[in-house]
Amino acid sequence: MNPDFRYEALPMRVRFGAGAVASLPEELDEIGLQRVLVLCSPGQEDTGELVASALGERCVGMRADAVMHVPADVAERARTEAVSMGADGCVAVGGGSAIGLGKAIALKHDLPIVAVPTTYAGSEMTPVWGLTTDGRKETGRDPKVLPRSVVYDPELTLSLPVGMSVTSGINAMAHAVEALYAPDATPIISLMAEEGVRALAAALPLIVADSADADGRNKALYGAWLCGAALGATTMSLHHKLCHALGGTLNLPHSDTHTVVLPYALAFNEPYAPDAAAALSCALGVSESPANRLWQLSRELGAPHSLAELGMQESDIERIAEEVTSRSYGNPRPITYDSVRDLLSAAWAGQWPVADPASP
Ligand code: NAD
Repeated sequence: MNPDFRYEALPMRVRFGAGAVASLPEELDEIGLQRVLVLCSPGQEDTGELVASALGERCVGMRADAVMHVPADVAERARTEAVSMGADGCVAVGGGSAIGLGKAIALKHDLPIVAVPTTYAGSEMTPVWGLTTDGRKETGRDPKVLPRSVVYDPELTLSLPVGMSVTSGINAMAHAVEALYAPDATPIISLMAEEGVRALAAALPLIVADSADADGRNKALYGAWLCGAALGATTMSLHHKLCHALGGTLNLPHSDTHTVVLPYALAFNEPYAPDAAAALSCALGVSESPANRLWQLSRELGAPHSLAELGMQESDIERIAEEVTSRSYGNPRPITYDSVRDLLSAAWAGQWPVADPASP
């Protein structure tokens, strides 16, 4: 444990439970919202309607155009509609895209957000916003974009396809892994991060065996909450920089990229972050390298396991290594161009992250 730390809790109001979506009117009462705009992603209109009907007359409109990385034009249209309808808040139901759209509205017009997450990405627990203009994503932190209330209803995650549940769950674990060795790690967040990884590692095999497994869905969403809280409270390191560069430059899919890269980023850092590695071994129930266990687990769960499989060309490795090393940031292990290029080469090929324990 880091013996010197500073900790400031972010406000957090959470309701958790099967059927919790029915409690939305009470949550709106607590915040004092009377006229809300419901936000969701294309294809998620049924869930949007479910939320709208739980809200009754307090729902003044619904937009189903939330997409990855919050394009500025989509955000502007949603902001205009929120203002023209006289909305006093938004209810964002969906994954990071819907919640990100709510954050874009909150950033400009100070409208409080109630989030109803249906993936494990964790945006609902962070004050981080993102906005993409002409292919460039700008991000920032602002307390006013942190949802005022989060309603976690595992029933709304039943429709999340198994493959997406797995990669979204490992995306959540990545937040916890980096929180455990963050420069601003604190004991309380480390406890949440370790428990988040434990819950997700137990939950994902249950979901793969049966996508409607209630225990699996409950545990996964519980783990996602804890991992999202860890993301919101700490500064992310190499793993998130790598995924940001791979997503932004090559447009690789968000949670698949996190899933492939995580074991390699952890293998790179674990010798320099022994406390984090010990906490992760404990959460994953192993005595050996947690990076190798994560790699095996993602294979057992049928997740993609190489950047090549995600469509990255080998010739792009050097470009991404240059981008990731062009700026300095906190990471337990010093970062060099050569070491990042080697890490990316191993992830591209899908090799064992730490030398294959079975090889002579
Ligand atoms: P997403 O919100 O785009 O959802 C992925 C897909 O799953 C979409 O097609 C969506 O319609 C579908 N989907 C969502 N819930 C579903 C359900 N229950 N059943 C069936 N389909 C469902 O993706 P995501 O991975 O949740 O979020 C990724 C985005 O969030 C990225 O833009 C990322 O940068 C951002 N993000 C931001 C933060 C932050 O702190 N600001 C944190 C994590 C992620």
